[in-house]
Amino acid sequence: MTDTTAIRGRLLSFRRAPDGPGDAGSYRFIEDGLVLVKDGRIAAVGDYAGLRGRLPEGVAVEHHPDGLILPGFIDTHIHFPQTQVIASYGARLLDWLEKYTFIEEQRYADPAHAAAGAAFFLDELLRNGTTTAVAYGSVHPQSVDALFAEAERRGAGLIAGKVMMDRHAPAALTDTAESGYADSKALIARWHGHGRQRYAVTPRFAITSTEAQLEAAGALLREHAGVHMQTHLSENAEEIATVRRLFPAARDYTDVYDRFGLLGPTSLFGHCIHLSEAEMGRLSETGSVAVFCPTSNLFIGSGLFDRAALARADRPVRTALATDVGGGTSYSMLRTAGEAYKVLQLNRQNLPALAAFDLMTRGNAAALGLEAEIGALEPGRWADLVVLDPRATPAMRHRMTTVDGDLEEELFVLMTLGDDRAVAATYLRGRIAHRRVGW
Ligand SMILES: [Zn+2]
Repeated sequence: MTDTTAIRGRLLSFRRAPDGPGDAGSYRFIEDGLVLVKDGRIAAVGDYAGLRGRLPEGVAVEHHPDGLILPGFIDTHIHFPQTQVIASYGARLLDWLEKYTFIEEQRYADPAHAAAGAAFFLDELLRNGTTTAVAYGSVHPQSVDALFAEAERRGAGLIAGKVMMDRHAPAALTDTAESGYADSKALIARWHGHGRQRYAVTPRFAITSTEAQLEAAGALLREHAGVHMQTHLSENAEEIATVRRLFPAARDYTDVYDRFGLLGPTSLFGHCIHLSEAEMGRLSETGSVAVFCPTSNLFIGSGLFDRAALARADRPVRTALATDVGGGTSYSMLRTAGEAYKVLQLNRQNLPALAAFDLMTRGNAAALGLEAEIGALEPGRWADLVVLDPRATPAMRHRMTTVDGDLEEELFVLMTLGDDRAVAATYLRGRIAHRRVGW
């Protein structure tokens, strides 16, 4: 028996990256649309008037007349064990890690703590309209078991991995090159391709991994086609200087990872703020992804992401957008896009609303190589959806009275003033996973 659901409202979905403001060919917008869902995947999308005849008898239509329905947001870099590190005062990257993060992450050795943390984490993602996240666990494999189990229970698809870290961290938070390899391999066997879950080999960053461990991370990637790799790259000056000292033979920070085979089209590098021309060239050649984490970059004072330099047409580097909670200060991809706009403004660049909404959905899916699965309202994709309320707060409602049917202006209001309050509902596999009180 097939399981059919239907969701009606204003629909927006991107086909490709917009060329700039006004690029109407980059998206499909349906004023009164219907998404028909069968067994968790989108079966049909179109005008309600045209599709209503295809509704099987007895299927109730969930109608959101005031909502704007998009594919669920995708967060490409977030730390699962940092939900109680977010909003920790006054430190720079390396002492922020020592003072707060490395203390908190030790608690995730306890499976009960990890399970409770995973439930909170998923609740919070869904409250913010995020249906897929790429997450760092703690060093403990049980933290990743807890996270995948919770995602699986709710029908969400995550990409996650246990942090590999065999030096420059408290003893309770370090593995070894051998145990990090073995634990990661066992997690891949247990979770990669299990339901909707996917694994990411996760060396935290060059400072906390020995050469032997980076070598082991490269071996894991070679041995398991299709797994992702996530790490941090070129976030701030002090970090970069430390990496140079630890790896004197490497040409630059990117080369540290390159030497161990960690660059490639399934590799995600958080931050990428202070890259040289040579480094951007290598990221481009290998199809690696630079992940822009604006609220984190502002909060930790790391610097301004240079989107235009990365995108240069003769050697484009693929990019994605992410919250980086707990260095980042918001779980909301709307808020993240609003802050991305401001960071780019400081760099004399810009982020048009169409580009921002494309990035949060189709663009991030493409960066993960998952555009056939998520990120668009198209038949065959998982029916992970977010319903946005552009009149969620008095300030938004007041501002929206001056937006006369202009979609791009409405989107810009959402990314500038919106946050979790603007998320009216979230669907996973066509089933309601969050509904705001009163919606
Ligand atoms: Zn991070």
